[in-house]
Amino acid sequence: MQNAVYKIKDEKLQQSLLDLGVKIKETNNNMGLCLAPFYIRISKVDHSMFNQFWIMHEVGHWLQYKKYGFIVFYLFFGLPSVLSQYLELIDPFKKYKHRYCFAEKSANQFAYNYFKNVIGNEKIALFRLYYPF
Ligand SMILES: [Zn+2]
Repeated sequence: MQNAVYKIKDEKLQQSLLDLGVKIKETNNNMGLCLAPFYIRISKVDHSMFNQFWIMHEVGHWLQYKKYGFIVFYLFFGLPSVLSQYLELIDPFKKYKHRYCFAEKSANQFAYNYFKNVIGNEKIALFRLYYPF
């Protein structure tokens, strides 16, 4: 449902979202978007592990915002991230990978550092595989 604020079933992840003041909303586009300090949008909240990893990645962007503040976050992380996503979309050779953009890898690192003592060793190891930095 559009604009609903989602409660995540995984208790530790949900508690982290509360601690950080993160609201999760759903969007029709197949993309994640961190609009700190307002909310995070992702395309579908299905409570799968990959879905939780996706939320964690977006929380990594939220943590970039918390560390660097509005202007630095949107200028040096948000904008390059959106451009990078677009670049992947239009690359005729399908070589460019948004996930390796520095802003993305940095978000993964932030998420990893935050969640490594929260969600358990097995899950955090898998997160690193999905979201390398
Ligand atoms: Zn991202």
